[in-house]
Amino acid sequence: MNAYDAVIVGAGVLGAATALELAEAGLSVLVLERGAPNREGSGTTAGNLHIQAVHTRRPGQAVPLDSEALLPAQKAADGLWALAEERLDADLEVRRNGGFMVAETAEQRRELRTKHVWERRAGLRTELLDGDAARDALPLLGPTVTAATWCPHDGYANPLKAAPAYLAAARRLGARVEAFTPVTGLERRGPAWRVRTPRGRHDTPVVVNTAGPWISDVSALAGVDMRMSPVAIQMHVTVRERPVLHHLVQHIGEGMSVKQVTAGNLLLGGGWPARRMDLDGRSSAGVAGLTGNVAQAVRILPFLARLRLLRMWAGPLAATPDEMPVIGPVPGREGLYVAGGTYAFTFAPLWGETLARMIRGERPRIDVSAFAPDRLTAPAGDADPAAPAHTEKGTAPC
Ligand SMILES: Cc1cc2nc3c(=O)[nH]c(=O)nc-3n(C[C@H](O)[C@H](O)[C@H](O)COP(=O)(O)OP(=O)(O)OC[C@H]3O[C@@H](n4cnc5c(N)ncnc54)[C@H](O)[C@@H]3O)c2cc1C
Repeated sequence: MNAYDAVIVGAGVLGAATALELAEAGLSVLVLERGAPNREGSGTTAGNLHIQAVHTRRPGQAVPLDSEALLPAQKAADGLWALAEERLDADLEVRRNGGFMVAETAEQRRELRTKHVWERRAGLRTELLDGDAARDALPLLGPTVTAATWCPHDGYANPLKAAPAYLAAARRLGARVEAFTPVTGLERRGPAWRVRTPRGRHDTPVVVNTAGPWISDVSALAGVDMRMSPVAIQMHVTVRERPVLHHLVQHIGEGMSVKQVTAGNLLLGGGWPARRMDLDGRSSAGVAGLTGNVAQAVRILPFLARLRLLRMWAGPLAATPDEMPVIGPVPGREGLYVAGGTYAFTFAPLWGETLARMIRGERPRIDVSAFAPDRLTAPAGDADPAAPAHTEKGTAPC
């Protein structure tokens, strides 16, 4: 048996960023990952750094998220991504070249105007453009675009590099990462948690649950019923093209994101539901998501029509029932913390720092009380440790 100051469950980008923050603060840290690190949401993500207000619904999403409430976190995350490569001493292919969010209908134009007001209120510099001005700025935009907001901070980081670089930096500071080691038990023993795995057990005062779509399952090990509603969404990628698109392009009404990555491929996404979500195995991408996403992307950026599609894939997303992030101490379970939920790639540096500050009794950079886990948990003590996790599986309508 080993003792650590903190044990982190899950080696996606959130677990990795938290490990670095805690190791940097001098804590002894163990990261336990049931599979290969960065294989799930963090390795299959689109990797967009969403700094302007996000669209409120993925295609098929039942509950809209409160995009105004996310803006302070997006602004803070932007500042941290600006420093990430230098801090991690790694090339993450961070591109903060800005992005457009486009509208086509009158209702979408109204939504753009509203979100532009929110952004100004939050101190984020965005510009509202009519269709012609948007096409002057980005001639690749098609004729159906009637307005756009421009945000100079939107961007992208390579998801295959981000979490591994955080883990490497944490390791350099002494953190230990055990892959293929699932956490199978969480038991409170006096002032400590006993963390069980098939390969041994560890005692620690602090457990951080960054298990993504499996947050409910890990919470249940500690006797906590945490309501999550994971979904699987899919991505599409074209063959490589000479550099043509230097900005992120999104759609306010229809959940669409398009960008060109460093290797030259065009990445199409925006939250289209996968054909099948399978949290026990592999989710699979389907034709309905593909045709829906490609049709809208070609309408907004007609040049895409001449590019061949290379591949598509599905990845799991740790959505909450209200579609907002979750971060903070779990009520009634001293020393147990959780973080996850929407846009966790964008928020990773911020949520890592926030968790570390909370664990050390310091004030987070921004107020995250609206994202506290208590809104998703049964009252402390009510949960039956033996009961199955309350996971409302999201629908995958394709
Ligand atoms: C297709 C797609 C596109 C997306 N696009 C964007 C985007 O453009 N921008 C953005 O900001 N966000 C985006 N997201 C969301 C974002 O990528 C994810 O929310 C984020 O990467 C999740 O990180 P995480 O570390 O919380 O979870 P994950 O990366 O899912 O990691 C959780 C880890 O916990 C491990 N685990 C689970 N149970 C256990 C256990 N019992 N013991 C040990 N380990 C365990 C899992 O194996 C997994 O590796 C997208 C997501 C997807 C799927």
